[in-house]
Amino acid sequence: MLMPFEKCPVCGGEVQEKEVEKLLRGGNHTAVLRVLAEVCLHCGERLYAQDTVRLFEQIRGKLERQELSNFKPLGQSFALPFMAFSQKGMRSLEVTMTLQ
Ligand SMILES: [Zn+2]
Repeated sequence: MLMPFEKCPVCGGEVQEKEVEKLLRGGNHTAVLRVLAEVCLHCGERLYAQDTVRLFEQIRGKLERQELSNFKPLGQSFALPFMAFSQKGMRSLEVTMTLQ
């Protein structure tokens, strides 16, 4: 059951019930699920029902404990090293590519 939020508690904007994709991590595992959330139309803040939050905790726990028998594999996940570019560098690269 969803909690009825009328306004976003962060910015006071209007919220709307939407189906959203949620990424959960536990240990080295990641699970993707689709749930209903109240999404702020202004700042994008997501508000979940208490039952949904409880479900997230259960799934995170299962991922941590490697109880994965009920989960359907969804491709592989890969870890990449941290990469940092300055905004200036990225912007000039984009301009160069557009001009060619
Ligand atoms: Zn908001």
